Amino acid sequence: MSSLPSAPASVPVNPATAASGDIKQAEEPNQDVQMLNSANGEVPNVNWESELQLVSSLAKLQELERKVHELRQFLPEGLLEPLVPEKPAANSPSQLRHDLEQAARARLSGIKDFQTLWQGTDMRPVWDHVESRIKESNGDFIQPTGMWEKDYDVLLKELLKADKTKEEEIEQEQEKLERSKAQSSDEEWQTVLEKFTQRDVPGIRVVKGQDPFSLSVVLAKAGMIFSVKGAQEPNVSGVSEWQVVSQTPASRSPSKLEQAIQDCLNSRPRKWDISFVLDMISSYADIKQTPCIKCKNLTNNAAQLPTMRRFKPILSQNEPRTFEFDALHQSCA
Ligand SMILES: [Zn+2]
Repeated sequence: MSSLPSAPASVPVNPATAASGDIKQAEEPNQDVQMLNSANGEVPNVNWESELQLVSSLAKLQELERKVHELRQFLPEGLLEPLVPEKPAANSPSQLRHDLEQAARARLSGIKDFQTLWQGTDMRPVWDHVESRIKESNGDFIQPTGMWEKDYDVLLKELLKADKTKEEEIEQEQEKLERSKAQSSDEEWQTVLEKFTQRDVPGIRVVKGQDPFSLSVVLAKAGMIFSVKGAQEPNVSGVSEWQVVSQTPASRSPSKLEQAIQDCLNSRPRKWDISFVLDMISSYADIKQTPCIKCKNLTNNAAQLPTMRRFKPILSQNEPRTFEFDALHQSCA
């Protein structure tokens, strides 16, 4: 826990201006005018009733306050560092001048970084909110104790974690519902398959197999075929897991690329979901032209194509849910 600077952190005085006032900077616009302009500019829509918003704003203010303390050491200590007795003395006056200049430049850039942070778009809604609260209360606001009562950065991390857990729970609940619908009968998957076929995904042809719960997916452009077979659990209708095998002519075994894709397909989540596996296989239709989402290259240093997939649901009311798959190299995943 750190103590507050003499001005409470919640009051938008501008220490950035105060600190830099000692070192003249050419053509620096008036900071106060900038503050005013940003306050009058377009304000992003922020929900100040949200706990997360309040805590994240307090965390930002706390971080700024910590930096104010850092800046206070810049002048004069940081600036005069080359004169500190413990340090090896400069060999010559010109060396000393050089050291002093370096120290001044380093401190100045520290101040500039702070100004950027203070005036950043991230901070703007926070300052606007503080200003409006001060106006509302006619300047009569709660006096701080001089200490931060809580570490808001820690609090923020906890809140975000709790939010994520909640999201995961909702997702699990939704998947459970979807799964029970998909497994409501032995025929349900064919309805899903028909819907997929109607979407007419370019470069994809689906051929139903002879065996029950079986089909082949042909990726003409990539020159690959994957056969998909459903496994059932005893006494449960529908398919509990769709397994994918690369289908090659008897004359050859799967290539490294086909094997890598097959492995990735079989390590997917939602294994009961025929729609998901069809969307995922479709994402390989253009494998030889699809660059990695992370490094933006087609091949990595090992000359491998991006065979990994990262998925996210496409927001729509459609049933079944459809997913989008981003391509990634194994080395970039
Ligand atoms: Zn990559």
